[in-house]
Amino acid sequence: MNRPATRMQSLEDIAACVAGYDPNALPVAQAQDFIARLVPRVQAVEQLAIRSALGRVLARDIVSPIDVPAHDNSAMDGYALRSAELLPGTDTLIGLAGTAFAGAQFSGGVPAGQGVRIMTGAVMPAGLDTVVPQEFIRTDDDGRIRIPAGTVAAGDNRRLRGEDLARGEAALQAGRILTPADLGLLASLGQAEVPVLRRLRVAFFSTGDELRSIGEPLDEGCVYDSNRYTIWGMLQRLGVEVLDLGVVHDEPAALREAFTQAAANADAVITSGGVSVGEADHTKQVMKQLGEVLFWKIAMRPGRPMAIGRIGIRPDAEGRIGEPGHQAMLFGLPGNPVAVMVTFYAFVRDALLAMSGATPQPLPLLRAVSTEAMRKKPGRTEYQRGIVSQASDGRWQVRITGAQGSGILRSMSEANGMVVLHHGQGHVAAGELVDVIPFNGLV
Ligand code: AMP
Ligand code: MG
Repeated sequence: MNRPATRMQSLEDIAACVAGYDPNALPVAQAQDFIARLVPRVQAVEQLAIRSALGRVLARDIVSPIDVPAHDNSAMDGYALRSAELLPGTDTLIGLAGTAFAGAQFSGGVPAGQGVRIMTGAVMPAGLDTVVPQEFIRTDDDGRIRIPAGTVAAGDNRRLRGEDLARGEAALQAGRILTPADLGLLASLGQAEVPVLRRLRVAFFSTGDELRSIGEPLDEGCVYDSNRYTIWGMLQRLGVEVLDLGVVHDEPAALREAFTQAAANADAVITSGGVSVGEADHTKQVMKQLGEVLFWKIAMRPGRPMAIGRIGIRPDAEGRIGEPGHQAMLFGLPGNPVAVMVTFYAFVRDALLAMSGATPQPLPLLRAVSTEAMRKKPGRTEYQRGIVSQASDGRWQVRITGAQGSGILRSMSEANGMVVLHHGQGHVAAGELVDVIPFNGLV
């Protein structure tokens, strides 16, 4: 497996570049800035058939080798003519020299006073520059066609050679996540294959002695592990390869084994649980032993504690898979199910996209009228789960989904968006506009 380029900067170097860096009260924007500076980008390129490349990251700019379309052609079914022969203020009559079909061009000459019946997509016969759509003409008894004055202007209904893509023009830029339209565009260039970056590999596991996996009995005081399923789902949406390492109990040897295996086999490792301040467990200790890891308290709600860094496969690690010197990014998310999702969207999503080589695109924000007042302390970013709908006046409005506790996953499931109350923002009055991240296409 091809690995990301070697990283030069230490975490301290990166922290020094982030204005307002304070690991114990880190604003969301600073944490995002830090992570953007930390993450490496995959390098390995693979060549894929265009149908296999949907959702993949384009590795190189695609320059058009041809003009698309290759010829001037008709945009309508109708009659091609010389615009210079159109009479101002009165009907124009033209004779017909023949017919041009799409894929079967008219190659004869067109004498003065004549035009050519033409189909959509047919090459414009030499000398003709304008197309009158079929529905605007009448045919006279002598077979000539009559074009009422003012029906068309010079150049109407003609598509120009190269108007979609000119030869030598950049058709698609590296870093794009290929869309259905892009696949069509590549096909229009006659390109069978496309260079994409290899998919990112992401390993994840849950930590906590109270966690049980589906199929196990739910012992007293235990909960089913839900985070692995939300994380799996969010990763699927990003199109990365996933490696699910299950639930890991609070035991140093098991945690070391899980982290080592995850780091050896993936570009990024996501854990949930075990990173909060009061944690009595071993997760943080093991993270520290295996890598360079920072423990943050982020000025946000939900999702305050988080670990970030990289863990490595040391050259001396005996018998391990993975390359010596390889390091995987570590995202140690909080345990609470809502906090997991919020921190994933706030930090991990963009980081994984950047690691995948995708050019970052900010999440679209919707401005919606809050139907209710919301209490909010300035100095932290809050993510409230909301239901967005269209009011009778056509404006977007949002209401909050019941209890907002960070363990209440139902609030997330019922929501169709997240209200973002920004760092500096205070209380919100009913009727005020707020920013919402719609889940459509995201969750
Ligand atoms: P922690 O961050 O480990 O202190 O966990 C915070 C809360 O989240 C606790 O109530 C945990 O039981 C819960 N939790 C942690 N991991 C999971 C998980 N994978 N699935 C469901 N709940 C979890
Ligand atoms: Mg725990």
